[in-house]
Amino acid sequence: MIPSAFDYVAPSSVDEAVRVLSEAGEDAKVIAGGQSLLPVLRMRLAAPTMVVDLGKIAALRGVREDGDALVIGAMTTHYDVQRDQLVREHAGLLALATDTVADPQVRHRGTFGGSLAHADPAGDLLAPALALDAEMVVRGMDGNRTVPAAEFFTDFFTTALRQGEILVEVRIPKTTGWSAHYEKFNRVAQAWSIVAVAATVRVDGGTIAEARVGLTNMASTPVRATAVEQALVGQPASAETIRAAAAHAAEGTSPPADGNADVAYRQHLAQVLTSRAVATAAGV
Ligand code: FAD
Repeated sequence: MIPSAFDYVAPSSVDEAVRVLSEAGEDAKVIAGGQSLLPVLRMRLAAPTMVVDLGKIAALRGVREDGDALVIGAMTTHYDVQRDQLVREHAGLLALATDTVADPQVRHRGTFGGSLAHADPAGDLLAPALALDAEMVVRGMDGNRTVPAAEFFTDFFTTALRQGEILVEVRIPKTTGWSAHYEKFNRVAQAWSIVAVAATVRVDGGTIAEARVGLTNMASTPVRATAVEQALVGQPASAETIRAAAAHAAEGTSPPADGNADVAYRQHLAQVLTSRAVATAAGV
């Protein structure tokens, strides 16, 4: 189907984009890589009267260090996140999860910020952002505000972004020296996760000193598996302790039921995939 007609603007600065968005009101939509928005427009699930393209704003692209954090511009493509040396060194979990997103064509167009703003619970970058305690820097007419990942994803395809606001960059506290794994379960290559688990751990002398685990597609938002994290910390990095901790993975989740999996199957998957993800991350 062909999208409804809309006006198109491509501002060259964030300030201009925010001003245009706020003047246009509720009927305006931001476009980043277009990999999720264009299908939505073509199916006429949305019919904005104005589309604001962020593609010409160079300041929104790239990865830099800022003390103990990595700062990733919202318009940085999946491809650029994947191959960025700073991301691989200081946020290995994000690099590994990004490797699993779609196919090379989508990764060259789609952006990190677009994935987070789209907030598809089956999207592969939300749980890593949550597990890494990322902070979203958001710009509106009143200036910048920072929203922790734990408060950013509020429901299916819904975030804490207010009308007229743009996600500008994502700050990720460094997890240098931690090891990580993203265990994604899908039925065909290059598809969204039926369930996936993002795990990163710091192992010290054979003991799991710190652990973060995030779950993809186990609720309307990404979920942090806190019971698993608590059960892992201070334990030896062994197959037995990891399996025992992973048994808590479905606690506090409310997974969807659909043609791919029912609730019980997703809960089972969460346990199995958590065990695999943590064991691989811990090198067991
Ligand atoms: P857009 O499509 O441009 O925008 C998406 C939404 O976010 C829109 O509502 C837009 O208004 C809003 N938005 C975008 N940027 C901003 C911003 N900076 N501030 C405020 N709002 C913003 N994803 C996965 O995680 N795993 C997969 O396996 C996967 N497979 C895919 C397979 C195919 C064939 C396709 C087409 C997509 C797939 N995707 C997958 C989605 C892909 O990762 C998209 O890149 C991503 O969901 C959206 O990024 P985008 O830059 O294209 O955003």
